[in-house]
Amino acid sequence: MESRLLEILVCPLCKSSLRYDRQRQELICRADRLAFPIRDGVPILLEGEARTLAPTATTRSGADPETPSSAQPEAAAPAQPEPSRPDEQP
Ligand SMILES: [Zn+2]
Repeated sequence: MESRLLEILVCPLCKSSLRYDRQRQELICRADRLAFPIRDGVPILLEGEARTLAPTATTRSGADPETPSSAQPEAAAPAQPEPSRPDEQP
């Protein structure tokens, strides 16, 4: 999967750019919450083949509980960059 190829890959529905999920081999459209599969390096940009993402609040983490994880330690990112500053004092 070449990264430059992703620049021309857009969502067939909303025509927005897709995000490449390398671990899951999917192309994510965050607007439509669809994940288009990549099979043998070929992105399947069909709405019927796309997987509907769970409407979670964390769109950037990509932690879908419905996804049968293929035993990869890819969910080892517990610390999300939250703009919380405990010692923020005037
Ligand atoms: Zn879309």
